[in-house]
Amino acid sequence: MANKFLELDGKLCNYIQSVSLREPEILAQLREETGKLPMRNMQIAPEQGQFMALLVQLMGAKKTLDIGVFTGYSSLVVALALPQDGQVVACDIDETYTAIAGRYWELAGVGDKIQLHLAPALQTLEGLIATGHSNSFDFAFIDADKRNYDNYYECALKLVRFGGLIIIDNVLWSGRVADDADRDKRTIAIRDFNQKLHQDPRVQISLIPIADGLTLALKK
Ligand code: CA
Repeated sequence: MANKFLELDGKLCNYIQSVSLREPEILAQLREETGKLPMRNMQIAPEQGQFMALLVQLMGAKKTLDIGVFTGYSSLVVALALPQDGQVVACDIDETYTAIAGRYWELAGVGDKIQLHLAPALQTLEGLIATGHSNSFDFAFIDADKRNYDNYYECALKLVRFGGLIIIDNVLWSGRVADDADRDKRTIAIRDFNQKLHQDPRVQISLIPIADGLTLALKK
């Protein structure tokens, strides 16, 4: 198959950011603080955050899910794009990282839009399903432990409305998904998940090679 993808070197990446990135100061500060942490690679790229904010605005989303919060960039970028009565249900198990998140949500003035559930995300999602929240979310972002991706996806698919959007991060896994010799459990989980989505008639999909790969799945 012809390769139509442009290879992005550092110079071109810098150029893209220089002509397209409009990162609010509060997000830049959070990104900088997170950049000092050992797990900093878990933070989404700023241009990806901007893309997510655009999707949320395009849809007129109000009720959203953030599965995997880390230090809060994805919840914050979405919350800033939501209307005043918008809501982010944020799921994570880590108290230390989400404490950083909470500090920035308050600083940004969107703390009341974000509801953090400090528990295993599957438990939170199953709780939402059990309490009548199915088909009520507009948007869901999946970016937590990779071996549970399929479980998170199945829950998110129940929770978003028809025409709602689920987006899944790290679907290219630094390119490792395309290397058959890579038998790491997380690589296999993402590879299997990508294959499943390709055949899943319940959604319309598009895989966007932004950052570490982002799949958009629209519930039919
Ligand atoms: Ca990620």
